[in-house]
Amino acid sequence: MVYLSRLISDAHLDKEKEAFSTSVYGSRWDIEPIPKYSLPDNEMPAKIAYKLIRDDLQLDGNPVLNLAAFLTTYMEEEAEKLMTENMSKNFIDYEEYPMTVELQTRCVNIIANLFNAPKNEDAIGVSTVGSSEAMMLAVLAMKKLWKKRREAEGKPTDKPNIVMSASVQVCWEKAARYFEIEEKFVYLSEGKYILDPEKAVELVDENTIGIAVILGSTYTGHYEDVKAVNDLLLAKNKKTGWDVPIHVDAASGGFVAPFVNPDLVWDFRLELVRSINVSGHKYGLCYPGIGWALWKSKKYLPDELVFNINYLGSNQASFTLNFSKNASNVISQYYVLIRLGRQGFTSIMENLMGIADYLASRLEATNKFEILSDRNGNCVPLVAFRLKAKDIHYDEFDVAHRIREHQWIVPSYTMAPNIQHIRVLRVVIREDFSRERCDLFVADLMHTIDYLDKVDKETLHIKRNAAGSWKALKSISLMTFDSQSHKTNGVC
Ligand SMILES: *Cc1c(COP(=O)(O)O)cnc(C)c1O
Repeated sequence: MVYLSRLISDAHLDKEKEAFSTSVYGSRWDIEPIPKYSLPDNEMPAKIAYKLIRDDLQLDGNPVLNLAAFLTTYMEEEAEKLMTENMSKNFIDYEEYPMTVELQTRCVNIIANLFNAPKNEDAIGVSTVGSSEAMMLAVLAMKKLWKKRREAEGKPTDKPNIVMSASVQVCWEKAARYFEIEEKFVYLSEGKYILDPEKAVELVDENTIGIAVILGSTYTGHYEDVKAVNDLLLAKNKKTGWDVPIHVDAASGGFVAPFVNPDLVWDFRLELVRSINVSGHKYGLCYPGIGWALWKSKKYLPDELVFNINYLGSNQASFTLNFSKNASNVISQYYVLIRLGRQGFTSIMENLMGIADYLASRLEATNKFEILSDRNGNCVPLVAFRLKAKDIHYDEFDVAHRIREHQWIVPSYTMAPNIQHIRVLRVVIREDFSRERCDLFVADLMHTIDYLDKVDKETLHIKRNAAGSWKALKSISLMTFDSQSHKTNGVC
């Protein structure tokens, strides 16, 4: 028998390539534009979609070198495993996943006790997506309680206000705008970067729903003096017959102060502190997507805000801004709490403080920088600093831009209203910022300063205005709106 070989046509070959190419970069998807603006008509293999997207994402900054963010970039493998294993669970399905809800309850108990919730009052709390959702729930509760009190007294309820420092995180301005509450700001002054308790309490009037006090300023890491506000406000409440409470925004400091500074009285030990928010994904050492809202007693959470629902198979209470969310973030928080315990948290937080102090002293020793943050465990572990020399041709923004060439991401920003002439650089010390990494950073920072000292003004100007590749990418999604916030906000 004779076998005849058939010549395969080009058309046939193309078809074969489409159907059978198993290598990502040999396939047609590698050479065609990736779908960007409309849903593609046809499928693509999973492996190829994965690789194309992964390749795009590799152009992002390296989270490890991101010194701008408070958010956790390292978790243990066991935590990651638990998260992956539970990724498909919707937290809201209480009936289907009762054990997950039980873990939330345990977390709320552990955190409320850490914040010294009184044993004789029934403290209550809920997991949220982050501190922003948590503080919004707390603001809603304060507003409602104020309104009920005013209505009972037959007084107008159309002008609620909230007192806070001008250095609040943007979530406070959002809450004020979204929920139509007047913002009463206490402005800061040079050298004093936190709320002045006397000025804050002076601003309180009959329409004040509460004072927000920050434990860990986003700008400089300072703790505001919650106790002083509490004492002054108690006296004012007594004199006027009002019942203005305090909410503590402990987004960054809530998981630091109890371990480094256990004697600092800022939490539920203070009579007027009725609610607290904390970010699990900052020093709660979990990946993004978890925060906590806590109330000292059930009576500070008005019933009208809690919804009872039964369409998931049983009666359940819900007090959140959104409904569904991933269960794995709550599970990861429980892992961290029981894995570390008080001892583990203390070791980590003390190390972070040690590295923050070390970095501050190394920066100071260069004689190039002035340190604006506090030390010795009196603030969250970060170093906020600025250039000492005033008569130079570059500023903090140039330092931040140029150090990006060494891959480090360091934010530069202007301070809160009234002291916006102060420009700051900030390094947040996270768990994975070891002393070794700190030394490498200081070396690169000094190379950057050395370069800036040598480069002439004109070259610097060209560099400032050159559009980097990230800017080009950014233009795809950048939109501007007329009504911007009136101040800049430090990166979180
Ligand atoms: C980060 C931060 C927030 C916002 O917290 P998210 O968890 O990112 O929503 C609010 N307040 C302060 C002081 C913060 O540092």
